[in-house]
Formats: sequence, C-alpha cells, structure tokens
Amino acid sequence: MTDAEIRKLIDDTLNNLPCVTIPNVYWGACDLTYYPDWGQRYNRGIAVVIPFFKMMTLKDHTEDGFALLEMTTYRYRLEVSNALTKAFTEAGIDFDIPLVFKDHEIVYHAQISAKDIAVHAGLGWIGKNDLLITPEYGPRVSLVGLVLNCDELIPGTPVTESRCGECDACVHACPFKNFTGREWAPGRPREERVNYVRCSEMRGRARKVLGRKMACGKCIVSCPVGAPAEQ
Ligand code: SF4
Ligand code: SF4
Repeated sequence: MTDAEIRKLIDDTLNNLPCVTIPNVYWGACDLTYYPDWGQRYNRGIAVVIPFFKMMTLKDHTEDGFALLEMTTYRYRLEVSNALTKAFTEAGIDFDIPLVFKDHEIVYHAQISAKDIAVHAGLGWIGKNDLLITPEYGPRVSLVGLVLNCDELIPGTPVTESRCGECDACVHACPFKNFTGREWAPGRPREERVNYVRCSEMRGRARKVLGRKMACGKCIVSCPVGAPAEQ
C-alpha cells in the first residue's frame, strides 16, 4: 500500500462513518520508534482528532452542557474505532487500538497516549492543562489513537515546543487549583503539570447530588486557542 492509498483509505473511512457524520474530523501519523514498547512491535502511530460539536467557552459553559459534550465524544470515539477496525482488517493492515483503562474513582491510564501520538504527528502541543492543544480548536477535541505497521505512511513532523507562552487561563479556571502552571516540554512527566487524582476526587464528590461525576471541563473551555470569535 502506498502513502496515498492508505491516506485515502483513512480519509474515506472517517468521512463515511456508518452511523454518524463528524464534521471536520482529521488525523495525523507519527513514527512510533520514540515509544520503547509499542515501537518495537509497530512502526507508525495514528491520532484521529474529533472536534467537539460545540466550541464551548467559559461564557456559555454549563455543567450539563459539558456532560453532553463528553457523552457525545465518547460515542464518536467508538464509531471511529469501529470503522477503522473494519477498514484496516479488510485491507489486511497489521494494527492495534490500545485500550484505555478507565478507573472512574482515580484517573485515566492509557496503554499508549493518543496525545503523545498527536504531538509526534505534529498536530499540536501539550498545554499547561496537560491536554493536546490543536491550532484549530485548542483543547476542544477528543482523540482516538492507533498503532500499525505501514512503512509507506509518511509521518508528520513532531511538535517539540509549547506555544502556551504567558497564557495561564486554564490554570486560573480550575476550581480546585489542579495545575502547577508549568509548561510542557518533550519527555517531562504529566505530574509536573497536573494533579489528576485531585481532579477526579473533587469531581467525584458530586456523585451524591448528580449520580455521576461532575463534568467540569473548565480547563478546556477557558483556553483561548481555538475559541470562537466573540460576536
Ligand atoms: S476538569 Fe475541572 S477540576 Fe479537573 S483539572 Fe480541569 S478545570 Fe480542574
Ligand atoms: S489556556 Fe492558555 S496556558 Fe492553558 S492550554 Fe490554553 S493556551 Fe495553554
């Protein structure tokens, strides 16, 4: 399969999902040799970027509105994963979609980080909120990460610098002060930037009232990158 052929396969799959249409969905590929374990088994990573259906800001943020965004992106990720699984299987491509273990009481653990794949594919940088910041939508995106063997697929150029600069909007927006304000650089551990345990625990306190964790997302909707222009 040539670079053009696999690009067409992925584009056609993402633009013709069987159950939904995801406006402006896009993707990028990276060389996976940076990753010690998965990189020995697969030579490429792919990150699919799914923009939120609503580009929410702090001004129009509501808890239940953000909960709906989260639920919708979860469904979109499943649709993308299922469609690419079918397409790659039928094309005979050697691939895997690494699992994301989800422990609702503590934090998310991914076998391989889709954010990392996206950064290595040149799709954005890691913000002070420890999320992928895309130039187009900021952190208002959801990701699907895949690994595959396809030498022909030409990888993008990794992003190696934060572009947050002096901004610290997300740091101030967090109601529980979960961010340190330190900028990301390649290889720096996420614990330097964010306290995920506190995020999870504090949002979990809403269970008694909401019957679920609070869907906060203020570190996402506060980001000026990708925010819609004011009317
Ligand atoms: S989701 Fe809310 S509580 Fe958690 S880090 Fe982001 S702003 Fe803070
Ligand atoms: S709000 Fe500012 S500091 Fe936070 S991720 Fe966005 S650009 Fe970076």
